[in-house]
Amino acid sequence: MVNYILKCVIVYDSNVGNNDNIIECEVVIIRLTKRQEQIIKIVEEHGPIIGEDIADLLGVVRATLRPDFALLTKAGLLKARPRVGYYLASKKIPSQTAETVKGMKVADWKSAPVVVEENVTVYDAIVNLFLNDVGTLYIISEGGILEGVVSRKDLLKIVLGQADIHKIPINVIMTRMPNVVTVTADDSLWEAAKKLVDHEIDSLPVVQPIFHNGREGLEVIGRITKSNITKAFVELGVD
Ligand code: ADP
Repeated sequence: MVNYILKCVIVYDSNVGNNDNIIECEVVIIRLTKRQEQIIKIVEEHGPIIGEDIADLLGVVRATLRPDFALLTKAGLLKARPRVGYYLASKKIPSQTAETVKGMKVADWKSAPVVVEENVTVYDAIVNLFLNDVGTLYIISEGGILEGVVSRKDLLKIVLGQADIHKIPINVIMTRMPNVVTVTADDSLWEAAKKLVDHEIDSLPVVQPIFHNGREGLEVIGRITKSNITKAFVELGVD
């Protein structure tokens, strides 16, 4: 518990260019009162907390604490933010933007997934990509278990390689589990965006656990792409 504030004021003479230029030095030691110590303890445990709530916990009215709040904030022990309250100066509280962004859930922003069975040909997968107007396909096996992901460039590469795309099954070229990066509906949209950026990919399957024929896996229930993130960003900017 902090119960002393050490305040040191050193005034330098800017005309002197060496270390002997201190012209005034004041050291003030302030002992915190019992109540100021209690305020710090409350803020430590409950912060950010508004002044009224601190006063309630101490059984006094807000006005009584005004000099204490003034001293504790001036001394740099507490910080105050309008509509947020008091918090320890040493503690970083999330900005309002961060709180809003992290409150946006994947569940509310996801689109329908486009899935294909793992044994469809590369040709059929390309047709599927065009018909559904997407950039990534999720590959599933029997029972709807996620097996892999195929992107536009994966498909372009195989076409340029002059392989017979009418014969090659899509699971030969996919990025397969467990290397597929996924999110769940409960995750924040910010976490999804961070994964897209960190892994340099365009799309994330939204998944939930599934059990099929004694096998544990992931079922695809949606998709988050850079377009979903862009839409969310636009909405954040609406007045
Ligand atoms: P593109 O290759 O068309 O630019 P991406 O950047 O999304 O599209 O894909 C780059 C590579 O990452 C591809 O090989 C693709 O199979 C793979 N990939 C795409 N999405 C994922 C994902 N969610 N998890 C793991 N790998 C992925």
